[in-house]
Amino acid sequence: MKIIGLIGGMSWESSAEYYRILNEEVKNRVGGLHSAKCVLFSVDFAEIERYQVAGDWETAGKVLGDAAQSLEKAGAEMIVLCTNTMHKVIGYIEEQVNLPILHIADATATQIRQAGISKVGLLGTNYTMEQDFYKSRIASRGISVLIPNQEERKVINQVIFEELCLGNVQQSSRDYYKKVIQQLVDEGAEGIILGCTEIGLLVKQEDAHVPLFDTTVIHAVEAVNRALEE
Ligand code: GLU
Repeated sequence: MKIIGLIGGMSWESSAEYYRILNEEVKNRVGGLHSAKCVLFSVDFAEIERYQVAGDWETAGKVLGDAAQSLEKAGAEMIVLCTNTMHKVIGYIEEQVNLPILHIADATATQIRQAGISKVGLLGTNYTMEQDFYKSRIASRGISVLIPNQEERKVINQVIFEELCLGNVQQSSRDYYKKVIQQLVDEGAEGIILGCTEIGLLVKQEDAHVPLFDTTVIHAVEAVNRALEE
């Protein structure tokens, strides 16, 4: 079994999910007392969030690149960056390590293609919904991406940073997300990407009439696929 290197803490609420899913997946697939071999470097999210707001992606990228180097020294054989948003700076991380980095959007696009879906709605932080680094990666696989309108994006983003990243799960926010998901479905989305690693804490498959692609689950399962490869 290969050692999975996790760059987490963005936020730790979702990193805890990654840790749980990795171990459950290994247990289900290998059985017995088996569990995932992994190393976690968990950053201080307040520091990263400050760089995001300042638009200082270079410094954020260097901090995450240093984290990746620490994981490499600790024996990690692949890197899993436990956030969609920070894939914006994956280039800085790639420069600093010689390990494969499992891109969250690639794993997600593969699942969407396998479901036979060609148009999806995307929920995530404003960075993920509005900028190109994530949508273009999905679109390059022949999948078109719809995003909520500006007012909806503002609320979706606010719920992520002011509630979910603080471990605060509210029914009123779940209702709002459900409304936005239905809106995207009415516009033609055949599935929805939960493109922020905390959204799965709020919204579950039973909250929608179309398939939900939970990036946390997809990414963690892909890491186990790689870890168990011969
Ligand atoms: N975990 C989130 C994501 O998947 C948001 C936190 C961040 O900005 O990294 O995008």
